Amino acid sequence: MRQVILVLNAGSSSLKFALYPATETPSQSLAGGKFDTSGPKLTFSAKDHDGNPLPPGELLSMHAPFALTDLIPELLDWISETFPDMQVSCVGHRVVHGGRTYSAPVRVDDTVLSDLDQLVSLAPLHEPHNIAAIRAISNWAPDLPQIACFDTSFHRTQPRLAKLFALPRHFADEGVIRYGFHGLSYDYIASVLPAHLGDRADGRVVVAHLGNGASMCAMKDRKSVASSMGFSALDGLMMGSRCGRLDAGVVLYLLRNRGMSADTIETLLYEASGLRGVSGISHDMSILEQSSDPNAREAIDLFCYRAAGELCQLASALQGLDAVVFTAGIGENSANIRRQICEQLTWLGVSLDDAANQANSPVISDADSQVDVLVIPTDEEQVIARAVARMVGADTGENSG
Ligand code: ADP
Repeated sequence: MRQVILVLNAGSSSLKFALYPATETPSQSLAGGKFDTSGPKLTFSAKDHDGNPLPPGELLSMHAPFALTDLIPELLDWISETFPDMQVSCVGHRVVHGGRTYSAPVRVDDTVLSDLDQLVSLAPLHEPHNIAAIRAISNWAPDLPQIACFDTSFHRTQPRLAKLFALPRHFADEGVIRYGFHGLSYDYIASVLPAHLGDRADGRVVVAHLGNGASMCAMKDRKSVASSMGFSALDGLMMGSRCGRLDAGVVLYLLRNRGMSADTIETLLYEASGLRGVSGISHDMSILEQSSDPNAREAIDLFCYRAAGELCQLASALQGLDAVVFTAGIGENSANIRRQICEQLTWLGVSLDDAANQANSPVISDADSQVDVLVIPTDEEQVIARAVARMVGADTGENSG
């Protein structure tokens, strides 16, 4: 049997998976796919390593209501039926928040699980699903090694000033600091930057991860020095359904003057704001781009205005800017959004090649640009698979290929 690593990324409306060979440094996935509940119906799509679609079999016969992580046992059966020569030997999970305790991947045990339970309120849209996926695997195969890989880990290199809020200092001692997120994506981009930029990869780079969740990371020497997301995954850029940076006084107003509860405010800020709230139409950028509604236009304009502003703040933390990288769903695919953000960075020396931008080329800056502008597809699953291979190999010495 071929031993494989299963990578799981469990979110609120999607459950993504990928299979990697259990080699020392896995790079090519053998297959991958996702369940999606963001539309009216549950959907499943999967592809093998050549990009050929894989049929869902019995996977879509489940009836609502159910949690996406309830589908994990069915997914594991589907994997055994679709790939009878493969055996899942360990599982890697994306976990959004590692808090103060976890700054590197960790093998999951009961202590780790109860620590992660404490972090749910800091990432309510993600952490409960991440934890549920770990528990689903534990129920299915209690002895299967599971590794949690954290989105916060990549940012541990940030200087203290980048992490501090201007609150009385005992709050920082308690862990009320800026953590930063999307670290698995930034880790991947940092690993491939030299192939794109050579020695300039170690310069002053801002990576813009623009997906449903969106953030930016300032890197020097390919390490995080600042990020737009902070204590929770709510800060920084405007997102699909999250508000991004918000005057704390607004929260006080909602509590006092509107009599809203903490739970209602949480739902408002995480699920009903951002592109969805401002457009009143959708959280989905591609839908808004096709709309002629002025509210869709305003939501897009605000998204780009805020993104350019956050990018300038990170350029200040870097004391200059050598390169900008766009990644994730919007960053990799939307030429219009990249153009609209970059037009607001002209004064920083950013200039785009329109044809290269329209083609989603790896380099989209023109010859006159003082700043390299790149489009690099991210691969968070690969970062997780490699961490699992390192951890499980180190634990058991079993890295059979
Ligand atoms: P997640 O944070 O869920 O992983 P993704 O990285 O998949 O999100 O990004 C999803 C976002 O990317 C959605 O807003 C989607 O509309 C947007 N997107 C994907 N393709 C395009 C496209 N061709 N043009 C504009 N937006 C796109």
